[in-house]
Amino acid sequence: MEAIETATRAAMHRAGAVLLSLLLDEGEPIVSSVTCPCGRQAHFHSWRRRRVLTAVGEAEIERAYYHCRHCGQGQSPRDRELDIVDTDYSPGVRRMMAVVGSETSFDRGRAQMELLAGLAVTRKAVERHAEAIGEDITKHEQDQIQRALQLDLPVVAGPRIPVLYIEMDGTGVPVVSAETEGRKGKNGDEPAHTREVKLGATFTQTTVDHDGRPMRDEASTTYTGAIETAEEFGRRLYTEVWERGWSRAEKKVVLGDGACWIWNIADREFPGAVQIVDLYHAREHLWDLAGKLFNIEKERKRWATRWQSKLDAGKAETIVRQLRSFPAPNAETADILRIEADYFERNAERMRYPEFRKQNLFIGSGVIEAACKTVVAQRLKLSGMFWTVRGANAIIALRCCLLNREFEDYWACRSKAA
Ligand SMILES: [Zn+2]
Repeated sequence: MEAIETATRAAMHRAGAVLLSLLLDEGEPIVSSVTCPCGRQAHFHSWRRRRVLTAVGEAEIERAYYHCRHCGQGQSPRDRELDIVDTDYSPGVRRMMAVVGSETSFDRGRAQMELLAGLAVTRKAVERHAEAIGEDITKHEQDQIQRALQLDLPVVAGPRIPVLYIEMDGTGVPVVSAETEGRKGKNGDEPAHTREVKLGATFTQTTVDHDGRPMRDEASTTYTGAIETAEEFGRRLYTEVWERGWSRAEKKVVLGDGACWIWNIADREFPGAVQIVDLYHAREHLWDLAGKLFNIEKERKRWATRWQSKLDAGKAETIVRQLRSFPAPNAETADILRIEADYFERNAERMRYPEFRKQNLFIGSGVIEAACKTVVAQRLKLSGMFWTVRGANAIIALRCCLLNREFEDYWACRSKAA
């Protein structure tokens, strides 16, 4: 049966392509001249045919070609109407390439196009079009960010938002060596092979479960991210959060691990938000430290458990005093103790867990940690992959757009603008 169905699909494609060609040929009115980019008039020259790969296979399209005698430029305005300027692929096929290219490696995407749609495209075509669409999305985002900077974004109306959460995290993506030239790796002098993607998740919380634990509004989560500076990312995230209803949220919460850039952004872009350090990261600090302070498993466990209960009770200052007075056996350990004491001191106000619990707030940043995997790792950290910053950012933008359920809107707007 498979041979027959595949052959039938191929035949349907051929018939479909003929029909499509006829339909498209009918739509164009003939005019004697059109305006040339140089400002003069370009006159009708001839009918020209070109081939375009469409969802039903290769179609031939005939459209009017206009030539300008003054500057020598030619144009076919119909190409713009059909959204096939500078490309041999129809909008429908480009959308398919964007979707498969965002989901999986470009080569597997190529194979999926062939298997699922019966369309033969090259790996390079999937890469080029998925990245071009991702880049176009980042261009739209940058326009929005500029409007936000000029305080030009409209207030978004909508239902009341009891609690709005913003979570941030960073995750490394392997890049080609040219992207890390002159940068220091994590271990000092050795060059870094990765660049950090800064990722943000925004979601709302309307209710608590019967035990009083917060419940995330599942469908409310949106993501945004890029390889960029903390300042650029702060503006990106602010724009996203504004569109999600920052101005009408009754309570605002920023959650993250201890990374300094996260709290700088929180202070600068989201003043007035409750700041919470992910409890599980903070606990990990204690367990890692215990591993460095004690050789005997039982002592290590006893110490970590004891101070973890202080942490859970929101008493970071008690931990700081313990660390500052702990007798270090050597200079290296003294350094580690000092760094950890600073960490708990700096974040003490962000560790008032009983207070946060009383307000039924989330105290773990699980949403953004999951996002590091679903948005970034599953597509950009596959073995043997090395990205340019430009390519990685395009695919991240595309994935966020699809995951945020914004792709249909983006695509519809884009066609209208064309
Ligand atoms: Zn001209």
